[in-house]
Amino acid sequence: MTIPADAAARRAVKPVICYPVEALAQPDLATYAAFRAQAVKTGEVLVPPRDAATFTVPAGGFFRISSVDGPQVGDLNLWNADDLSERFYSGKTRALHGTHVTTGQRLWSSFPGMRPMATILADTLGWYGKDSFGGSVHDVIGTRCDPYTHNLLSGGQYHHCCHSNLTRALADATGLPLHIAEAHVHDVLNVFMCTGFTRDTGQYFMKASPVRPGDYLEFFAEIPLLGALSACPGGDCSSEHSSDQAMCHPLLVEVFETPADVLGDWVSPPPNGYDRSHGR
Ligand SMILES: [Zn+2]
Repeated sequence: MTIPADAAARRAVKPVICYPVEALAQPDLATYAAFRAQAVKTGEVLVPPRDAATFTVPAGGFFRISSVDGPQVGDLNLWNADDLSERFYSGKTRALHGTHVTTGQRLWSSFPGMRPMATILADTLGWYGKDSFGGSVHDVIGTRCDPYTHNLLSGGQYHHCCHSNLTRALADATGLPLHIAEAHVHDVLNVFMCTGFTRDTGQYFMKASPVRPGDYLEFFAEIPLLGALSACPGGDCSSEHSSDQAMCHPLLVEVFETPADVLGDWVSPPPNGYDRSHGR
């Protein structure tokens, strides 16, 4: 390898934002807040440690994920409740909003629908910002802990990684065989998880989550949602996951519905406008 004479000049070129979000239609947070004020709690599920649970939210409703007994991170999957093929697209959400998400940002769905599935309305960890390691909370950079990577790195058979927890929960909710349900499990929103990339090697890191009991992340459901949340075997992710070593706690999911007369003429965002002809 030869270092070119103009290496410093090439490195000094200023970056440009790949996807400027100024062109996106902004969520009407004031209207959502008005809906929330009238919304009625209709259900809750306590996600057991090292396991997952599912929940449904009608379009125009809300769901809140709360820390209850102690610091705990959660791995969230979302599907269109009427069509499992439309699901949360972690990578495109990252491309649009950055590595971590907070209030006012949206979780986007997969192609071809590619529309907002959920909008974050409240984040009690919004104060955290970015720490001196480059870490922040609620990431869309990790995937989900899974038994395959664990097997490659450690050789074991561990069955309570978030990937497996989400697979079992989806299979139970839908009646799908385990291997079919597994194919619908996708990269997650890492709720409450504190992560970043190391500055020297660019490796994905985690550190103890700043979440404490009472903290929550709340979402507006832009479309009818089927959600699955895994209480990660990593607990607060201060040491390791993919084992039963970490101290783990449950997570609470509460669902709120907005009465139809309050929603009025509000409708879900339409599927993406691209015509799908791909130049043919
Ligand atoms: Zn996990």
